[in-house]
Amino acid sequence: APHHRRSLLSDAEMETQLYRLAGRRAELPRTTFHELFEQRVRADPARPAASHGPATLTYGELNARANRIAHALLAAGLTAEAPVAVVLDRTLDWLAAALGVFKAGGVYLPVRPDFPADRVAAQLERSECRFVLAEPGSDDLARAAVAAAGVDAAVLSVPGLLAGAGPGTDPGVPVAPEQAAYIYFTSGSTGAPKGAVCEHAGMLNHLLMKIEDMGLAGRDGEVVTQTASQCFDISLWQFAAPLMAGGSVRIVDTEVLLSVGGFLDELTAHDVTVAQVVPSYLEVMLTHLEQWPRPLGRLRSLSVTGEALKLELVQRWFAAYPQIALVNAYGATEVSDDTMHEILDRAPERDFVTVGTSRRNINTYVVDENLALVPLGSPGEIAFSGVCVGRGYINDEERTRQAFVADPFRPGTRMYRTGDFGRWLPEGRIEFLGRRDEQVKIRGFRIEIGEIENKLLTFPGVRESAVVIDDGAGQMRNLVAFYSGDGPAPEQLRDFLAGLLPEYMVPTYFHGLDQLPLTENGKIDKKVLKRLAGTL
Ligand code: ADP
Repeated sequence: APHHRRSLLSDAEMETQLYRLAGRRAELPRTTFHELFEQRVRADPARPAASHGPATLTYGELNARANRIAHALLAAGLTAEAPVAVVLDRTLDWLAAALGVFKAGGVYLPVRPDFPADRVAAQLERSECRFVLAEPGSDDLARAAVAAAGVDAAVLSVPGLLAGAGPGTDPGVPVAPEQAAYIYFTSGSTGAPKGAVCEHAGMLNHLLMKIEDMGLAGRDGEVVTQTASQCFDISLWQFAAPLMAGGSVRIVDTEVLLSVGGFLDELTAHDVTVAQVVPSYLEVMLTHLEQWPRPLGRLRSLSVTGEALKLELVQRWFAAYPQIALVNAYGATEVSDDTMHEILDRAPERDFVTVGTSRRNINTYVVDENLALVPLGSPGEIAFSGVCVGRGYINDEERTRQAFVADPFRPGTRMYRTGDFGRWLPEGRIEFLGRRDEQVKIRGFRIEIGEIENKLLTFPGVRESAVVIDDGAGQMRNLVAFYSGDGPAPEQLRDFLAGLLPEYMVPTYFHGLDQLPLTENGKIDKKVLKRLAGTL
């Protein structure tokens, strides 16, 4: 019998959880993001599409650039669902490259040009990637990664392709909604990153959800900021949703974001209406704005995502900007980004912030270890099913099998287990209660502690390693590494990890101990280390 038959819930409660609290069924056209973008181009090619620094592109110009890239990929032999690594900084060329990959029927695989070559190589190898798009600043990394991966991949220069004589017309490659659209690599606890693959239908459903909930439909002059790193899946909707809705994208450089005041200037100077930040950035922004209050121009909605949003920040936000909505967006890369939105126009009355209600075409469940529904209000693991559920991790059946399972409530469909704990509140909102494992977020970046610990253990002389989070004030957090062994100095370990991991995964502090403290069961006692981290 299906698992849910064994559940202790009454029929009425089952009905409530499975149907009343599920997202509404909504139309999902059998098309793709890039086809809807092409429709916008045909309707109004002169409309502004994207800007970065002083440069701007109209819909027609961006489309022509994307088409040149698509034709070049096709000429290089790209076939449906072939991954294309895009090793570009966040620029207008990067937007054209991403669009070009979709148009050609390839799978967009974004890579940050500042990532260590070995990590990029591992991603190319794992995804059997044969096409790499690069630019002068990332050429060397792309070639080094291709060589290290031992894959037979062509490295194409995006500026070269754009300057060339390739046709600027739509390639007209048919792309089915069931086709894979993109791969984002996320940290993996065993040491190897996992490449989550999502399909066009899930991507489109998410973009429609963003357009509905962020009020991007049917309005003129909408401007959305593109702030997230290209290796973080939230970067995708930040450009794709406005381009699908007829709005425009404002790319904000990382250096500008670092200065807060610079970011606020961008918001007002470019008439930004919708922006998105991670909670730790919201905190920095609020601290700045409380000291130097200023109007935020046309901004009408600010989405906050990636990690738990604290009530205190929401209260401070509405005290300063009662007219600007906050949207707490919750989801995971494996389910095509966000699956729940909490749309707030004032601070909630309860003493925590919920992550929202089920959205279009998405079923939300709270289950126990046997995948049985737990009673309303009881804690359990949050799981999702519906069109949002991605394919799994590329070339990694085992880890795919653990997280992507058959949906016991809707036979024939699949469910993704988030690893997050949560509970239903009576009115159909979910309260987020934390993680089941050692996945953490630093500045919104998803990190498996185990990946860092495993890397540390590979350094000669390191005997034991443990990494803990030191919760500073507010939303700020640091990774702190402890190790034992003969010889290695903290600086050596820092340099070693910096050569293997993205900057946000390198611990801030390293402490060598004679021996790491153990629990009664002989496991490393992270509670003790966490306390120690706060005092060292
Ligand atoms: P995203 O799809 O938002 O980029 P990631 O794949 O990077 O997300 O990370 C997903 C995890 O991040 C979730 O399983 C959850 O633990 C955490 N998370 C994301 N958004 C929120 C939120 N609004 N509140 C609490 N936790 C969140």
